[in-house]
Amino acid sequence: MGIPGSGLAKGLAVTLRTMTKRTVTEQYPDVQPELPSRTRGVIGLFEENCTVCMLCARECPDWCIYIDSHKETVPPAAPGGRERSRNVLDRFAIDFSLCMYCGICIEVCPFDALFWSPEFEYAETDIHELTHERDKLREWMWTVPEPPPLDPGAEQPKEIAAAQKAADKLAAQQAKEAEEAAAAQQAESAQAESGQAGEAPQAKDAGEEA
Ligand code: SF4
Ligand code: SF4
Repeated sequence: MGIPGSGLAKGLAVTLRTMTKRTVTEQYPDVQPELPSRTRGVIGLFEENCTVCMLCARECPDWCIYIDSHKETVPPAAPGGRERSRNVLDRFAIDFSLCMYCGICIEVCPFDALFWSPEFEYAETDIHELTHERDKLREWMWTVPEPPPLDPGAEQPKEIAAAQKAADKLAAQQAKEAEEAAAAQQAESAQAESGQAGEAPQAKDAGEEA
């Protein structure tokens, strides 16, 4: 059996310790909390990157990703080529009343179409409203923070090299087209000048005959 009154002393000691600690109360919603950049608030969809591969929906442990699509035939890229078929997204929705914020869908997406946003203020009074359709998921993309900078000396991502190559190719093509247009204009004006020079002596001859 313990000393009589020791429980009370322990309780008072805890109270005193707590009283002297700095308060950490967040004044939300008057003051917005400073959240870490990798906070799992809501999921944003970058629709242009989605190929409707269904990997995210298949891997989601809660089965709370709903995707509908249909197939479309795309004409061949070059004459004589084969027609291709591609998936067109009709519906992409996430039910955040079921989602457990595990992040598996974002991890498995092979095309970087899903991202975490730190936005968390989307509570609803009607549970059905927690199913966010593609338009809403796209809007969340505006709240996705920029990726952290690369480590010094890190290799550039291959996407940047590919985009740079495409931009260089386009710039070269545009420069070539501008050069050709300038040459054509020059040739046209030279032709017009020579035409005027040929007409002038004829006019002079006509004047002498009169
Ligand atoms: S975070 Fe997890 S539970 Fe939520 S949609 Fe993605 S895979 Fe499903
Ligand atoms: S895994 Fe990515 S690309 Fe595939 S359906 Fe999901 S979001 Fe689209």
